[in-house]
Amino acid sequence: MNNNIPPAQLWLGSHIHLLEQLETYLQKIFCSAGGCRHCITCRQIGQKQHHALCWLYPEKSSYTLDEISIIGSTISYTLDSNSHFFFIIQKADFLTSTCANSLLKSLEEPATGYHFILLAERVESMLPTIRSRCTVQTFSNQSFNSTSSLFDFFSTTAPHSPSIFLNVLEQSKITERESIELLDSLLAHWVTEFKMGIQEQNAQKIKIADHAVTVLKTSFAHPPMPGSSKIFWKNVYLQMKLGDPVRSMG
Ligand SMILES: [Zn+2]
Repeated sequence: MNNNIPPAQLWLGSHIHLLEQLETYLQKIFCSAGGCRHCITCRQIGQKQHHALCWLYPEKSSYTLDEISIIGSTISYTLDSNSHFFFIIQKADFLTSTCANSLLKSLEEPATGYHFILLAERVESMLPTIRSRCTVQTFSNQSFNSTSSLFDFFSTTAPHSPSIFLNVLEQSKITERESIELLDSLLAHWVTEFKMGIQEQNAQKIKIADHAVTVLKTSFAHPPMPGSSKIFWKNVYLQMKLGDPVRSMG
C-alpha cells in the first residue's frame, strides 16, 4: 500500500463529483488489483461499508461534537503497521469552530496509518484553521455538470415543469453507469433527509423522503438496460414527482 498518503486532505468540488472521485481513489489504495471495481473490497468501498473507512455526515445544519467523537475513540486504537484507516468528513464546511478545534491536533499529527479526507464545495466556506492543515485539491465539475443538474432535479421538493426536466435529461446524455452512481447519491441524500425529518419530528419531510427512498430503491432493483437510461429516468421522474404524496393530497 501507498505510504505517501497525506494525513489530511481537503477536496473541493460538487459533492456528487467528489464522491465519485473518492470512490476511485480509495479503491486504488485498498484493492489488491489497484482498483478493479469488481472485487469485494472495491464493492464494499462503493457501498460505504469498508471496515477501514469512517464516513461522517452532519445530521443537521452543522456537525456536533457528538457526531465527530467517533474520531477520537477510533484513533485511540493503534493500527497494524502498513494499515490505513480513513475518516471521510463530508460537508466539511459544516464543521463548527468548536468541532474544528477538537480536530486540529488529529489533523496535524494523526496517529500512524490514520488519514483524513475532508469534502467541501468551496474553499471560502472552510475554517482557515482547518484549511491550513490540509493538502488542498480542487476538482473541476465540468464533465459532470449534466449529472449534477439531474441530481439537483431529484434532490429537491420544489415543483418542476415536466418540459424543463425533459430538456435537462435530453442534454445530460447520462450513461447506465452514471445512472447507477446518480441513484446511489440520491438515495444517500434522501436517507439523510428522512433521518433529519425524524429528528425534527417533521411529518411532511418524513413523508416526502420516505416516498423518494421507496421510488429509488425500486429503481435500483430494475437498473437501466444499455441504451435505456433516458426512459429509466423518465420513469423515476414520473414516480417521484407525480406520485408525490404531499402534492397529490393537495
Ligand atoms: Zn478491486
